[in-house]
Amino acid sequence: MSKLEEYTLRAKRGDKPTLVYAELGSCDGCSMVIVNLDGTLLDLNNVFDIKQMRIAIRGVYDGPIDVLMVEGAVTCEEEAEELREFRARADYVIAVGACAELGGIPGMAPPFAVKRAQEGKFGAHVQGQRPIAPRPVAEIIKVDAVIHGCPITTADAVRAIRIILAGGRPDYTDRPVCAECVLQDNGCLLFEGRACLGAVTRAGCNAYCPSNGGFCWACRGLLPDAPLNALYNVAKVHDIPQAEVDRKLRMANQRHFTLIEEKEKK
Ligand code: SF4
Ligand code: SF4
Ligand code: SF4
Repeated sequence: MSKLEEYTLRAKRGDKPTLVYAELGSCDGCSMVIVNLDGTLLDLNNVFDIKQMRIAIRGVYDGPIDVLMVEGAVTCEEEAEELREFRARADYVIAVGACAELGGIPGMAPPFAVKRAQEGKFGAHVQGQRPIAPRPVAEIIKVDAVIHGCPITTADAVRAIRIILAGGRPDYTDRPVCAECVLQDNGCLLFEGRACLGAVTRAGCNAYCPSNGGFCWACRGLLPDAPLNALYNVAKVHDIPQAEVDRKLRMANQRHFTLIEEKEKK
């Protein structure tokens, strides 16, 4: 029986599946997308009994969880413990957005900033917490599915939740953003001397940024075996320094590079 069939049967008995939306170190941007699903093809309130969501619901829920959605990077030991506790009660876990999937913007925190936070020098809001270098949810608990992006898109959120409800696992393309960019008939930013990371980034956003005058900064994550050297070489031809490419690569994906660097040091 698919999740959808199981949940539909339960809903008929007045027992809707429970959903908890947990926010860790995040800006709430992705939860705004989820809240605004109302009125789209998927009305979450009809499908789930939403038990906890910081920006929409008061209170804390401590019962069994059918679907746990997690937004944000894990920024302290307390969040890691909370996450493990959630996982122990949850049937299915979705990492929502670049912070949860990759470490994202919080993952850019430099070591000196983490050290200052650990020394309690970042103000009252971190007093009493044990800060750690911000990291993706999957470094702490098993994650069953991911919704990419910063922020996630309505289309991706609806698609992922529907597939999960049907008993499947959202499957994402291994094509680069450039493949979608050429279909939009955009001129390539690299030819204008602007660093754009579309060649190494997972597609699925219809090349949103280059289509709207911005560069791709890899918010949907790097492709497996991302051709970084090829990107550096093409950038060099267009007088774009490698340091500029690297700076943009680390905006959403710093944690990815930190882990590689730590491994190389061993
Ligand atoms: S992925 Fe982006 S929009 Fe979503 S919580 Fe993180 S910073 Fe905010
Ligand atoms: S603008 Fe960016 S995404 Fe578009 S083709 Fe050039 S490198 Fe690729
Ligand atoms: S173009 Fe790149 S940065 Fe912009 S939404 Fe798509 S993957 Fe994210």
